[in-house]
Amino acid sequence: MAMMAPKARKHLSADALLSMLRSSFADIADHRPGKPDISLTDALLSAFAMFSLKSSSLLAFDKERTEGNLQRVYGIERVPCDTAMREILDPVEPESLRPLFKGVFRALQRGKALEEMVFVEGHYLLALDGTGYFSSQQIHCESCLATHHRNGTVTYRHQMLGAALIHPDQRAVIPLMPEPIIKQDGTEKNDCERNAAKRFITKLRQDHPHLKVIVTEDSLSSNAPHIQCLHDHHLHYILGVKEGDHAYLFEQVTAAEHAGRVTYYDRDDAETGLRHRFRFVSDMPLNEANADLRVNFLECWEWDGEKVQHFSWVTDLRVNKGTVYQLMRGGRARWRIENETFNTLKNQGYHFEHNYGHGYQHLSVVFAVLMMLAFLVDQVQQLCCPLFQAVWAKLGSKRRLWERMRALFYDYALESMRYLFAALFYGWKKTAPMFVDSS
Ligand SMILES: [Zn+2]
Repeated sequence: MAMMAPKARKHLSADALLSMLRSSFADIADHRPGKPDISLTDALLSAFAMFSLKSSSLLAFDKERTEGNLQRVYGIERVPCDTAMREILDPVEPESLRPLFKGVFRALQRGKALEEMVFVEGHYLLALDGTGYFSSQQIHCESCLATHHRNGTVTYRHQMLGAALIHPDQRAVIPLMPEPIIKQDGTEKNDCERNAAKRFITKLRQDHPHLKVIVTEDSLSSNAPHIQCLHDHHLHYILGVKEGDHAYLFEQVTAAEHAGRVTYYDRDDAETGLRHRFRFVSDMPLNEANADLRVNFLECWEWDGEKVQHFSWVTDLRVNKGTVYQLMRGGRARWRIENETFNTLKNQGYHFEHNYGHGYQHLSVVFAVLMMLAFLVDQVQQLCCPLFQAVWAKLGSKRRLWERMRALFYDYALESMRYLFAALFYGWKKTAPMFVDSS
C-alpha cells in the first residue's frame, strides 16, 4: 500500500508562515541610506534560514549549491556572506521583530490551532523564565550585562526573559517575543529579570489586550510588586513559593491550620500509581510587609511508591477540591519553558549558546530573537502539521530530523518546505549507479 503524506492546515504550513514572515521582514525599515546591494529583508531572512535549518553558520552551507534552495524555499533574493549579514543586522532594533511573533500568533488564532493549548475556561498558561545564552570575559557589546569582579576582570553576559504558552498535556510550546535582559540605555546599572518582566507584561497587554492568561513562574517571582503588576494587567497567576523564602506565609498557613481553616484532600491516580495529598487555604497574606496583598495558597505532596516530591504555590484562582489538581498541573507545567524551550534551544540542534557573531550594538540580541522565531515556526509545525509530526515520528528524534533536513537541502533542488518534508516522509530514492561490465 502506498504511503499517503498527511494533509496539513495550509495557512499554518511552514511555507505559508515563511511567506508571511518574508512580507513582515520587508516592512522593517532599512537603517541604511540609498539602495544597498543586499536588502535588509534578505539579511534578516538569511539569518532566519540559518536558524531554521539549524546550521552552525552561514558558511556551513556550500553557498553555490544551496543558494537556489534558499531562494525558492525562503524567498531570499541575495544571500549575504556572513560578514555582510553581521554588519547589516547589528544596528537593527530587536523590538522591530515583534510584529513577526504577533503575526504567527494571529495565524494560530485564526486557524483555531490554539484551542489545544487552552488550559482552563478559555485561559492559556503562560510560563515566564529568564535564561542566559552568552558569557565572555572579552567579547562584549553595548547591550551586554557587565559584572565587574574584584580582581579587575569583567564578565559580559546576555540573558533574556523567555515566555511561552504551555499546556500540561502538550509537548509543543508557543513562544512569544522574548524580552531581552540587557544594559538599559544611559545607565550603568545592570538590568534584571524583574524589570524585564515589567516591560514584558506591558508589551504583552499591548500585543494581546484581551488574551485570557494565567502566568506561571518560579518562586523568585512571588513578590508583592510583581503580583501587583500581574493584577494591574488582568493576568491570573500560579507562582511557586518556598518555605525558605516565604517564611511568614508558611507560618500563617500553620496558624490557619490550627484555626481549622485549612483543607486537606487526597487523590490517588490508579492509572499512574501516583498518590497526591493537597493542602490549601484561601486569603493568606503574601508577606508581613504586604499584609493587604492576599493570595490563595496550595501545596502538594506526590508519592510514586518510592519517593515524595513537594510543591507549593500561591494563586489568585479559586482553590477547592474541584480545582486543586488542575492548578497543581498548571504550576508544574512551568518546567516546559526550561525543558521544552531553553533546553531544546541549547541542546537539540538550535545552538542557542553558540556565538554566531556578537556585533557592537544589537546583533547578539537580534540573533537570539530570530532563533526564537525559527523555534516558534517549528513549534507551530509540531502542533499543527501532521506531515511534520509523521516525519518526526519516523526519524525518531529532532536532532535526526534536522540532520536529514539539512542533508536534503544541501543535495537536492527543492521547491518548498512541504516538498522537503514530503521527501523526508516518503524517503528519497537515490538511483543506484549503473555499471556496464565490459567482458
Ligand atoms: Zn553583548
